[in-house]
Amino acid sequence: MAAPTVLEIALPTPLRRRFDYLPPEGVDTALLKPGQRVRVPFGNQRLIGLILRVKSESSLPLQNLRPAEALLDTAPLLPDELWRLCLWAADYYQHPIGDALHTALPVLLRQGEPDREKGEPYWQLTTEGKGLPEGALKRAPRQAELLAALQQRGALNRADLAALGVARSHVKTLEDKGLVYSREQVLTPPPEPKILRDTPLSLSDEQATALARIPENGFHISLLDGTTGSGKTEIYLQAIARTLTQGRQALVLVPEIGLTPQTLARFQRRFAQPVVALHSGMNDRERLDAWLQARDGRARIVIGTRSAIFTPMANLGILIVDEEHDSSFKQQDGFRYSARDLAALRAHRLGIPLILGSATPSLESLHNARTGRYDYLRLTQRAGNARPPELLTQDIRRQTLDEGFSPETLERIRATLESGNQVLVFLNRRGYAPTLECPDCGWLAECRHCDTRLTLHQTPRHLHCHHCDHQRAVPRSCPSCKSTRLQPLGQGTERSEEALQRHFPDTRVLRVDRDSTRQKNAFRDLVEEVHRGDPCILVGTQMLAKGHHFADVTLVVILDSDAGLFSTDFRGPERMGQLLLQVAGRAGRADKPGQVIIQTHHAEHPLVRTLLERGYHAFAELILSERRLTGLPPFRHMALIRAESKRPENAVAFLKQVRALAEQRHPPGHELGYLGPLPAMLEKRGDRFRYQLQVNAANRGALQKLLSQLAPEMEQHALAKRNRWSIDVDPQDMG
Ligand SMILES: [Zn+2]
Ligand SMILES: [Zn+2]
Ligand SMILES: [Zn+2]
Repeated sequence: MAAPTVLEIALPTPLRRRFDYLPPEGVDTALLKPGQRVRVPFGNQRLIGLILRVKSESSLPLQNLRPAEALLDTAPLLPDELWRLCLWAADYYQHPIGDALHTALPVLLRQGEPDREKGEPYWQLTTEGKGLPEGALKRAPRQAELLAALQQRGALNRADLAALGVARSHVKTLEDKGLVYSREQVLTPPPEPKILRDTPLSLSDEQATALARIPENGFHISLLDGTTGSGKTEIYLQAIARTLTQGRQALVLVPEIGLTPQTLARFQRRFAQPVVALHSGMNDRERLDAWLQARDGRARIVIGTRSAIFTPMANLGILIVDEEHDSSFKQQDGFRYSARDLAALRAHRLGIPLILGSATPSLESLHNARTGRYDYLRLTQRAGNARPPELLTQDIRRQTLDEGFSPETLERIRATLESGNQVLVFLNRRGYAPTLECPDCGWLAECRHCDTRLTLHQTPRHLHCHHCDHQRAVPRSCPSCKSTRLQPLGQGTERSEEALQRHFPDTRVLRVDRDSTRQKNAFRDLVEEVHRGDPCILVGTQMLAKGHHFADVTLVVILDSDAGLFSTDFRGPERMGQLLLQVAGRAGRADKPGQVIIQTHHAEHPLVRTLLERGYHAFAELILSERRLTGLPPFRHMALIRAESKRPENAVAFLKQVRALAEQRHPPGHELGYLGPLPAMLEKRGDRFRYQLQVNAANRGALQKLLSQLAPEMEQHALAKRNRWSIDVDPQDMG
């Protein structure tokens, strides 16, 4: 008797297990390969899984195995290179394999849709339709007309029908009568021989030197560190042109907020070759079609956000990660992968160049550049000799502020508007005020589900928790002392907008935050209005900091820059510095010099002074030296094990036991260190108490080995069921 065939399958369940099934009945076992999808029974459900291995035995008795119901693919879905990358990532980020693989696939493929593009429908006559005698449809003249056109031309597509003025309902009627049938056809335009549509810009010496250092082939990582406006994108475009000339493809990753129609348009203007985007604004079908075009090589350039790192590419020749410091490249829940770090691995395995670009590189990347792991390319000049903005700190400790604005700031805003320019006011807090307070007894509006205050919103008026989304009406009187003098405390964007409108009644004040741009196209319309160039004031959150260039903004005001300085997240200061410079970079582009006013309570803080007086690199150096002393990344490697539960003692007990297990495996010392369990920054959120155990390691290998042993033990642990828990390798957000 021949050896049995057993399929080891990854299923989208939160379990770390792999599942054994027998092959679907009637399927030739020689056709079964890892990477193909199968539909399997799972409890009373049907799930789509991926074959991990085809093997000849199972640890379970064969008679206990159920057969898979159907084989969905004739070939593996992913090219081998990407398949291995996904398996590696599931392993490295300690995530259940089934869920990791599903995260990497487009939604429709997870649901079992065939991996074929949706074609254009066209219509033809059935045999019966062809045999219809003339004049048969006399009483339905439109149908008769359609029939005649089909008899004459053989087939009609949507455009033909529109040209004939035939409604779809007529086609449908003929289909129902069995006279016409429809088919789908994927229209593939013939390959375009031209690479470029538009002439490349001429490069400055600095740009030319940088481009020359990026090889056309072979593994190589460059950190392209260039101030805002120094022309990083032009280097990407010219490096991509070289790759396309070799007949290979390019994959470009951008932060969530950076994938604007302008970004896409810039690539499409430059290249005659097909450019496709992959982002969350597309529907599932559009995403799958773009994915398939990348896989079969027709899409020559793919631009996408984080998950686009999992795009299959027929012949990938270059990878680019723009704004590489942006935290959106790390997924913060579920499969917690870093697209930037996976890009480095993918480039290495494919033997191709990777460009990491930023005006404010992450400390990890700067460290890699300084230790020689990355080639360090710097662009220091702004295009067209635009001068960098002038940074002015304003110590607001002993000033009387008018709704958050110092008198001097208001004066500078007035002068800027009078000279016909635009002003950008940055405040990273939406809503009217961070909370509501009672001046009589000190009561503050707090969320009853979280350790946090409720934000006051004015339009419409309500209290809102930005952590758990809890909303409630604004009380008329103080719940504690019945005082009716409740008042907003602090500033949010709505309140700044109101104050600015009061000071400058004849000027347009445009607010840009998640609330004001909720409606489709609202953000685009705002941006268009600003681009018309009339004097106006933009007030908004970090949505303003990235991606968009506002050429007529000559004054940037940063209202409250201090939040990151004293954050308990060790990355707080780094993030603060990056954000300040990103916002500052909006001012004084093109030929207009800009000014940036930074209102701060901590003008003397060494980090603030270093950043403003000596720039980002000195600032980064200072933080790196602190991290070296305190043993934080990038000098040590880290993982966070998080647990949360409605009862705090459950989470604490679980993490204590995990720590004990870990210490049994590997006693604390230089190689591996443990910290915790400690409460998370926001200890209670959505009625759950959140704790974390930090593991830090001198090298990745030791950390990986420990986590791989720990994860299955944690899953089996009796206390695991009483907690939601997760492992976050290389965490970017310590919350
Ligand atoms: Zn009160
Ligand atoms: Zn809100
Ligand atoms: Zn809440």
